[in-house]
Amino acid sequence: MKKEFICIVCPRGCRVVVDGDDISGNQCKRGIDYVKAEMTAPKRVLTTTVKTIFSEWPRVSVKTDKPLPKELLFKAMSDINKVIIDKPLDIGEVVIYNLCNTDVNLILTKSLKGVQK
Ligand code: SF4
Repeated sequence: MKKEFICIVCPRGCRVVVDGDDISGNQCKRGIDYVKAEMTAPKRVLTTTVKTIFSEWPRVSVKTDKPLPKELLFKAMSDINKVIIDKPLDIGEVVIYNLCNTDVNLILTKSLKGVQK
């Protein structure tokens, strides 16, 4: 059965077609690795926001430091929505370690240094 994927490894966004053992449309080997991973264990970097106690920045942007298994994204969002940051963390600091019992951490992508309560 033929399946199509858009490779998201780089901005080219190649349309990669998998037909049995044939893989075509990729412009580099990373596209092959990407579709193989998508067909077996798809993962995504999760980007979202977290609540804070700071009125100046009531929500702050975060992302996972590595891709998370796709099937854990809803559970991860449920855990993330329970968090309220109460310290002026810096960019790159960990908000949640081992998200969903994986080795993936949730990190801040914006600095809260100097923010007022
Ligand atoms: S196949 Fe290669 S060139 Fe095409 S989007 Fe993927 S990484 Fe980029």
